[in-house]
Order: sequence, then C-alpha cells, then structure tokens
Amino acid sequence: MNDFVGAVDQGTTSTRFMIFDHNGNEAGRHQLEHQQILPCSGWVEHNPVEIWERTAVVIQSAMASAHLGASDLVALGVTNQRETTVVWNPHTGRPYYNAIVWQDTRTDRLASALTRDGRGKIIQSKAGLPPATYFSAAKIQWILDNVEGVRRAAERGDAVFGTMDSWLLWNLTGGPRGGAHVTDVTNASRTMLMNLQTLDWDDELLSFFDIPRAMLPAIRSSSEPAGYGTTTGAGPLGGEVALTGALGDQHAATVGQVCFAAGQAKNTYGTGSFLLLNTGTRAVWSGNGLLTTVGYRFGDQDPVYALEGSIAVTGSAVQWLRDNLGIIASAAQSEELARQVPDSAGIYFVPAFSGLFAPYWRSDARGALVGLSRFHTSAHLARATLEAICYSSRDLAEAMGKESGVTFDILRVDGGVTANDLCMQTQADILGIPVSRPVIAETTALGAAYAAGLAVNFWKGTDELAAHWREDRRWEPEWSADRRESGYAGWRKAVERTLNWVDVG
Ligand code: ADP
Repeated sequence: MNDFVGAVDQGTTSTRFMIFDHNGNEAGRHQLEHQQILPCSGWVEHNPVEIWERTAVVIQSAMASAHLGASDLVALGVTNQRETTVVWNPHTGRPYYNAIVWQDTRTDRLASALTRDGRGKIIQSKAGLPPATYFSAAKIQWILDNVEGVRRAAERGDAVFGTMDSWLLWNLTGGPRGGAHVTDVTNASRTMLMNLQTLDWDDELLSFFDIPRAMLPAIRSSSEPAGYGTTTGAGPLGGEVALTGALGDQHAATVGQVCFAAGQAKNTYGTGSFLLLNTGTRAVWSGNGLLTTVGYRFGDQDPVYALEGSIAVTGSAVQWLRDNLGIIASAAQSEELARQVPDSAGIYFVPAFSGLFAPYWRSDARGALVGLSRFHTSAHLARATLEAICYSSRDLAEAMGKESGVTFDILRVDGGVTANDLCMQTQADILGIPVSRPVIAETTALGAAYAAGLAVNFWKGTDELAAHWREDRRWEPEWSADRRESGYAGWRKAVERTLNWVDVG
C-alpha cells in the first residue's frame, strides 16, 4: 500500500529520516548525529561519506521500526543544511575533501575583496546575496585552488560539486552506477552562482570564482513530477521509490509551515535563526541586508520568492551558556534561570561569535556583553541571552518591513528554542505581534515530504496541505509600546559596540 511519504532531513548536526501519513502525521523516525570537524579556528567541516552512511542507517532503522518497506512509500523528499559544499569524483564516489560547512569562515578575505572591488554588487544584483563566507561559491573555489589535483580533475569531468541535497540524491539514485547529478532551485539559489531571474547558472558569476560549469548539477524544481530519479534495490530502501521533492532546510520549513501566501512568514530557531517572508512570484531585491532567495518552485509553476534574514547564533548562544560558562546544566534551564529576575536590568548580550549575519553582514564583529554593573547576575545574563535571540529577529522584521512594504501580522515559529516559553513570550513582546507554534514541530522534514507528495498527487494542492496546519500555542504581546521601543534602541546601541573588532583585511 502506498500510504506514506518519506523525508530525509540532513541537518548541520544530525540526519533524520521521517515518515508521514496522508494527514501529515508522523508514522516513524530515526536520527543520528555526525562528527563536527574543526581543524582550526573558524573552519568547520563534515565527512560526506559519514553523512551518506548515516543517512542510509536512519532510513533503514525508521522503516524497520515502522514495519514499512519501499512499496509503502509513494515518494521520497530530501531537505538539507544549505550552502555546505562537497566536491567528489563521480566515477568512484569519493569526495576530494571534507564538506566545507556553511558556518566556515576560511573564505573571509575573499568575501571582503569581492565587496571592495565591486563584484559584490553584481553578485547581489544577479544572485540576490551579499558576498559572505556563508555561501557555496567561494568554498568551491577554495577546494579547486587548495586541494591538489582537483582543478585538473574538474576540467577532465572527474570532479563534480553539490550541496548536501545533490550529494544524497546522487548516492540514493545509484552513485557511481548512474546516480543523478541534480539540485533543486532553492539550494542552487544559495550558491552565489545562480541567476535569480533565469534560474540557471550564470557564466559571469562562475567566472568570478573560476568555477567550470561542467562541475555543477542540473537545476530542477523543488517538487518534480518527473522525479530526480528513483532509489535502487541496492540502496537503503531495498527497492525503487521515486525521489520527487528537494528543498533547502529553511525553504522546506516554509512549506511545512504552509506559508504559501505572499506576506506569510516563519522563523525557525535552532543553532541559528532563519526568518523567511513569502513575497509571492515577485523577487524583492534587498537594500537592507536581507537575502533574496527562491522560496520554492513546484513543478513548472512560477517560482515563489522569499526575503530571508539569517542569524548565525541564537540557540547556540544558549549552548554556550551551558558548555562554556557552565551557568546552566541544560538548554531548558535557561528559562528557569532567566525567570529568577523580572528583566535583564539594562544589560545586552550580542553573541556575534563569528561576526554578524543579516542584516549587518559584518565579519569584523565579535560578541559583547554591555551595560554591566556589580548588581548583575547570571540570571540577568540568561535573560539577556533569550532577549538577544528575540532582538536579532526584530532586526530582521524591521528590515523586511522597509524592504517589501509587507509587514506580517503574525509570526509562525518552529525549532528547538520554541520549547522556551519565556523566550517566545519575549519574542511577541519585542515584535509587538503574536507568535504562533504549530502542533507538528518537524516542519523541515514535513515540508520536504509535502513537496515530494505534491509531485505525485498524493496531496492535490497547497490548500489541502494548509488544512493540515494546527496551532499548538500562541503568545500575545504584553509590553507597552514605550518599553518595546526603548528596549530595541538599547539593542541597536549594543550591536554598534561589537563592530570593527577584528581585522579581516
Ligand atoms: P538544529 O536543527 O539547528 O540543530 P534544533 O531545532 O534541534 O536545532 O534546536 C537546537 C537548539 O535549540 C540548540 O542550540 C539549543 O541550545 C536550543 N534549545 C533547545 N531547547 C531550548 C530551550 N528550552 N530554551 C532555549 N534554547 C533551547
């Protein structure tokens, strides 16, 4: 019986496989972490072979514990950490180097040079992205220039590039034995190499990074009736299932939160936070440090664009309180500690550990704790950390309002931090709008499943999906307008104190 859709969710710290039924309810899951490889300060790598092996294990384990086989799945979707870059040999399946992760800052000098010499402006106008270490292009260039023999291999057709979606789709469809070298348009829109208007690789952008076009995967829709290929009998499912959905993780969460109308927004709070606002079939070009990106594209319909604000450090600031300062024993305890005081008593914590992403894009910034006096305690710091998570999202909401003229009147939220009731209440207070969390918290995997299921008519359209969405919890704003605005003014002042701290040439 084809009653289920499966989704691989390949994230920054772990990979999970989830199975959903026709109502969008979970029917099974399995999850495994992978190693974070930190060769030196600012460098972050993953082993692509380990990730593929763990993907195979989580698929097998979830299917076995749900007592399902390949024939029970109508289709399969893939969602993934974005921008993370793999270059591999398509004849052997061996990567030439570890995957360079989105958080890696080894290309910071290159990013500053692009800003200085004016190419950054061209990249922004074509790809919708500011030059930053975050995106894939400079990571590919780094591998081509620094790993012995890879450039020659690429010129011979013996080295290909992919983000994690491509790497997994290629492996799932047979790898060296005929694997499909494809990516979806949302992942492609994060490379700095795709033209947002043509939805194709752009020769001028490729020339900026000296990347041979032949290395790149074919760009396909996020939901593909024709499919990207099928799994093979030799693969982890032990049978053939059509792969018909693929989206970058934040795009998948937008679909999972059923933000299908222009003006709808979702914010995912995990390691970092990612706020996406659906701008409809119109790409809105940012002058305020937001990213223009493809939200999703279903089949041959027009692409739906989004404005995105990305914050590098939010939930990971809570981890820092736990692991580096030791003032809490678990992330959840941040709430208990913060509740010991009624407010942060005038202190601000800006966790700009690896510079600031949107809307500032300042790689010269570093973290700061300001406003301290003898009076302050670890409880104030915990409270300031939760407020920082919320103020940094306010920065994004401000920029989005200016940019698009679209202001959203409710924010849909998901991710690990949304378990923190105080933080979500503070978010509503700081934004001045309600914050709403759905019953199905696994919006990323769900979005990939939705894209896959739509392609094969398992679900008939977005209206049917929207009907699955149910609110679990809503927080209403309680602060006065005065408190909201004076609090935010203090945050902006604190952010200024973090700038110009390190020299990035
Ligand atoms: P990711 O997918 O990026 O790994 P998750 O959505 O799993 O992230 O969320 C994990 C993050 O959420 C961690 O950084 C953790 O510190 C944070 N977190 C989890 N629970 C809480 C909580 N109750 N309060 C604050 N932060 C939390």
